[in-house]
Amino acid sequence: MADVAIVTGGTRGIGAAIARALQAAGCRVAAIYHGNDEAAARFSGAADIPVFKWDVGDEAACLEGIRKVEEALGPTSVLVNNAGITRDGMFHRMSWEQWRAVLGTNLDSMFTMSRAVIEGMRERRHGRIINISSINGQKGQVGQVNYSAAKAGVIGFTKALALENAARGITVNAICPGYIDTDMVAAVPQEVRDSIVARIPVGRLGQAEEIAHAVAWLATPAAAFCTGSVLTINGGQYIANG
Ligand code: NDP
Repeated sequence: MADVAIVTGGTRGIGAAIARALQAAGCRVAAIYHGNDEAAARFSGAADIPVFKWDVGDEAACLEGIRKVEEALGPTSVLVNNAGITRDGMFHRMSWEQWRAVLGTNLDSMFTMSRAVIEGMRERRHGRIINISSINGQKGQVGQVNYSAAKAGVIGFTKALALENAARGITVNAICPGYIDTDMVAAVPQEVRDSIVARIPVGRLGQAEEIAHAVAWLATPAAAFCTGSVLTINGGQYIANG
């Protein structure tokens, strides 16, 4: 039977490309989203991928949502923790709400989603968990203390979970994208975007598909020896100038 793959934030941007890539690789995919019904319906119709709506930062919602997905598609063997948000601002002006929103969606979701599927994966001795971190979790970023902390947390989470489950046929890896051409980056002012591109050695933003292909490979049996890894995909930005 085909692997069942859950992609959080799978209706837009990087997640939508990941959902399509996993579908093309033969998985039965469920895409999770939170608020944008219109984008989700458009994606679902175009890609022929079922969508489910819940907040990945809410433990009870995740348990209930995953139960529904598994009822419809079968037990989860691939989990892609991709959903993420930003609430930027200098730390000395950052509110608790900005902190909590970003930590909730980007880091609490690692617990809520992975905890809900890990026991089944351990029983079946097969699983792939792929977590989307960020270059800014590796290097830090002005105005993103909350986001950088959450994304660095994703890396620690990935390594510890990989160690705990390596002998059970489960791999856990993280991908750190650099700047990718999605709605999240489109929200950044044009002059800031230009200055970002100027710091990327390949001279352009990345494409969502360039992250999706890596996720699809990590989900294959061929990637069974790859666990606890942090895969950096940023057009050379990190090694060039941090
Ligand atoms: P987008 O803003 O384009 O899409 C975000 C997706 O996540 C949407 O499907 C959104 O649903 C969903 N989502 C947001 N919050 C929740 C929530 N609480 N519960 C469930 N789903 C939620 O993001 P990107 O594609 O740009 O980013 C994807 C991931 O990659 C994120 O983790 C981001 O931090 C990371 N990343 C992105 C980079 C970039 O340059 N774009 C660079 C490095 C990392 P809805 O449509 O309903 O809002």
